Formats: sequence, C-alpha cells, structure tokens
Amino acid sequence: MDLPHVSATVREFIDKGPKKLLIGRWVESQSGEVFDSIDPSTGERLASIYQGDASDIDAAVQAARRALEGPWSRISPSERARLLWRLSDLIEENAHELSQLESLDTGKPLTETSMVDIPMTVDHFRYFAGWTTKLTGETLPVSFPGDYLTYTRREPLGVIGAIVPWNFPLMITSWKLAPALACGNTVVLKPSELTPLTAIRLGELCREAGIPDGVLNIVPGLGPKAGAALTHHPGVDKITFTGSTRVGREIVRASAEDFKRVTLELGGKSPNIVFPDADLNAVAGGIMMSIFFNQGEVCSAGSRLYLHKRIYDDVLSKVVERANAIRQGAGVDPGTQMGPLISEEHQNRVLKYIETGIEDGAKVLAGGRFPSKTGYFVQPTILEARDDMTVAQEEVFGPVLSVLPFEDLSDVIRRANRTDYGLAAGIWSRDVKKAVRVAHGLKAGTVWVNGYNLLDATSPWGGFKQSGIGREMGKVALDHYTEVKSVWVNLT
Ligand code: NAD
Repeated sequence: MDLPHVSATVREFIDKGPKKLLIGRWVESQSGEVFDSIDPSTGERLASIYQGDASDIDAAVQAARRALEGPWSRISPSERARLLWRLSDLIEENAHELSQLESLDTGKPLTETSMVDIPMTVDHFRYFAGWTTKLTGETLPVSFPGDYLTYTRREPLGVIGAIVPWNFPLMITSWKLAPALACGNTVVLKPSELTPLTAIRLGELCREAGIPDGVLNIVPGLGPKAGAALTHHPGVDKITFTGSTRVGREIVRASAEDFKRVTLELGGKSPNIVFPDADLNAVAGGIMMSIFFNQGEVCSAGSRLYLHKRIYDDVLSKVVERANAIRQGAGVDPGTQMGPLISEEHQNRVLKYIETGIEDGAKVLAGGRFPSKTGYFVQPTILEARDDMTVAQEEVFGPVLSVLPFEDLSDVIRRANRTDYGLAAGIWSRDVKKAVRVAHGLKAGTVWVNGYNLLDATSPWGGFKQSGIGREMGKVALDHYTEVKSVWVNLT
C-alpha cells in the first residue's frame, strides 16, 4: 500500500503480518480468523488483525485474574507509579509515530492527533501515576458503644473490561487504563474493530515499560462477539464503556446479570449558545471547533448552535465562509484540515441525517451535497433547522451543524435541555453573571464558558441523562476503580 506521508517505522508496523492479541503475551486468536482495518481516506485495507472472540476473551480474563492475584498485587504503589511514568515517557518518545498511526486508522488530521490525542494520552498516565500513592482511607469516629478502631481502605475493584470507540482510540483508552492501573486493577481491553492499531502499539509499549504480563490484555474483535463476551463474562468485575447510547443500554443489561460495576460514557447532542454580548471575534472560531473538530465525530460536538437573533446573520455569515474554506483530505496529509468519516456505513448514516433534515424543511447554508472524493468524506454542513427536527434532536456524529435562533434567556435554557442527552454545553457571553446562571441551568456534565471542547486530566468528564453513568478523568474517577471497605477492630 502506498503511504506517502508516513514514516518507515509506521509502515513497518503496519506491514508486519496480522496483529496479534495480547493475552499475557502476544498470541494468535484461537479461531485463527483475521479482520481488516481500513484506511477511511481511500477505503483500502490498511492492516489485518487477529479477531478475538469469546474463547480469547475468556483466556484474557483468566490472565488478568492471575496477574491481579499474583505479581500485580505484590507491586507497591510507588512502583506502580514508576511503571505508569515510564509508560507515559515511552508514549511521548513515540508520539510522532503514534500520531501518524492514529491519523491513518481514524482518518483524522495529523494536527489533531499530534496536538490533542497523543499529548492528552501522555498527560493521563502522568496524572493518574500521581494518585497511586494517595489512595487513602479514613479513620472514623464511630459512636457505637465500646472501643473500636474503625477505618476505611480503598481496594482495587479487580478485573476491568474496557470497551473503547473509534473516534479517539488511544486517548479514550488512556481515560480507562490509567485510573484502572493506578488503583491496582488489571484490564482486558477491547478496542474498536475499526481502529485497533494504536491499542496494539500501546500494548507493546506497556511491555517495554515493564508492566507485568497479564496486567493489560488486548483482544481486538467485533462488538457483538468479543465485546458482548466481555460484558457477559462472570470473571469481570467492572465494565468501563465509551460508545453509543444504544450499545450502552446492552452493556447495562448484560452487567445486571452479576451486578458488575459499570461506567458509561455515551452520546451527546450538545447545545452551544451565543449571546449578543459575546466577543464575536472569538465566537466564529469557537463554533468551528465545536462542530468540525475531529470531523464532528466527537461525543461533545456542539451540534445545536443557539444563536441570538441580534447577531444571527453576522455570526452565521462568518461561520459559513469558514466552513466552505475547510480543506478535506487524508488525515496523514499535512495540508488536511478535516479528514474522512470512519467508515462507509457511518458516511451513509450522516448523509441520511442531512437528507432527512432537508426533507423536514432545513435550509442548507453550507455543504450538504454528496461528496465528490473517494474515501468516506462528508462536506462540512450547516443547516438552518428547528428544534423538533430529527437532525436537531439525534446524535449525527459528523460535521453537521443545526443552527437555531433564540431571543429569550430562560427559553434558550429550556430548549437546550430538551433532548435525551446531557454531555456538554457551550456558552458565549461577556456577562459573567448571565453565563453562570445559564451554566447552572443546563443539564450537562461539562459546561464551557467562552470556549469549547476544553479537556484536562484533572477535570471530571461524563454525562447527565442518557449521556452516561459515572465520570472519567479527575480525582472522581478513582471512586469508579476502587471498592471502599470498612474495617472494624474491637479493642475492648
Ligand atoms: P459503538 O457503541 O458502536 O461501539 C463502541 C464499542 O463498543 C466498540 O468497541 C464496539 O466494538 C463495542 N460494541 C459494539 N456492540 C457491542 C456489544 N453488543 N457489546 C459490547 N460491546 C459492543 O460506538 P462507536 O460507533 O464506536 O462510537 C461512537 C459513539 O461513541 C457515539 O455515540 C459517541 O457519542 C460515543 N462517544 C462518547 C464519548 C463520551 O465520552 N461520552 C466519547 C467518545 C465517543
């Protein structure tokens, strides 16, 4: 395969036979079956990967259990920190190669993988490395008659099943792997079948860092097979899932069988609200980033733009002009500003949403036409819509912005909250009092004022309503990877 913008190291990694599963060590799948990872900018095969199924998941869960009860349990918290630091250093040393690999597999621009995905992955491992030595309990002043030493401990949950989507494959893996390992758990990771390559490279780096065999196991495979086997496996103590709300529902049902702990990071339909007193120079850039970053394949995409009527035409003309100027191309091409979508199936799904929007009466202000390029491209599209349209209610997960005018503050809060989702929201205003009032009124896990898509390892991430259960990132994530045990010692 011709890969003009890719380094020899990345080419060599891609060309090296079918990629194996990490189950204690690198192994072929028990069935011997393979599947292909596709370059979304051409539709051609990129690499082949052994396809894990239920029997491989079972072997991986057993390997994770052995490591949990064996070598990993004997490693001190400070040694765990050292291993996580070493891993983050290795990711940083290989950042260029990992960015290229991620851009090839997902199609997203190199500027984004090299400035967001990979550095944030490094940060995550470093941030959670710091927590290994700070997982403290409390001594409790109990009133129970007698003399007791009563205290709490935070213990690892056990074997964690981590299921990851294709839009930020390595970064979202780090959101799960870093806190899981920091808290002393072991992991079976099921990357998306559409983007398994950086997870496999991460497995190699974990081994190079000295993380013991069986602590991280990686089983690439299809969702309904390998993913479902993981969620139904009785040897798994917790599932941490990022993906669609539809599959999230299935995960909850499967986990209910044996009351596995569950964290879910699901879809969104986030409002981005612009008041007339906003800094209008910053607003156009903020809107572009909110919807066209990562081709709009972002759970927090600001796909509903509420624009105040007084600035409606002015702001919209700037955004339309910028959207029409976006250069689309292969992610690894340094000139690319927006890549293709992940697959033909997803491209068709997004195009269908545009078509439905137009049938429902939406006016196309930018894009909207069938793409002329090969590869799974969709033009940056802006639709003048209404709240009740399907395109303005359902998650499109592509570069499609629904623009909705508003006049009244209370009314816009009510309209912004009127979806099943509650992941994120943006507010643009110079009036701090107003911005805070709106921020507190919105039902969303994260609210950005005068910014959008701002993320940091320290800041909790997760959704209200059908956008999820629990939080990743920040100190609060530790609660989702530990059990609290109360110990009572009778001193009388
Ligand atoms: P998806 O739900 O189709 O797949 C996610 C993962 O689940 C994949 O690894 C897939 O193989 C696996 N899977 C599929 N069916 C399964 C099953 N029956 N049992 C177990 N696992 C199964 O989602 P996707 O298309 O990969 O990702 C897009 C979705 O992810 C969007 O809805 C987006 O909003 C969401 N997302 C949310 C966040 C967040 O932080 N809230 C971040 C990124 C993406």
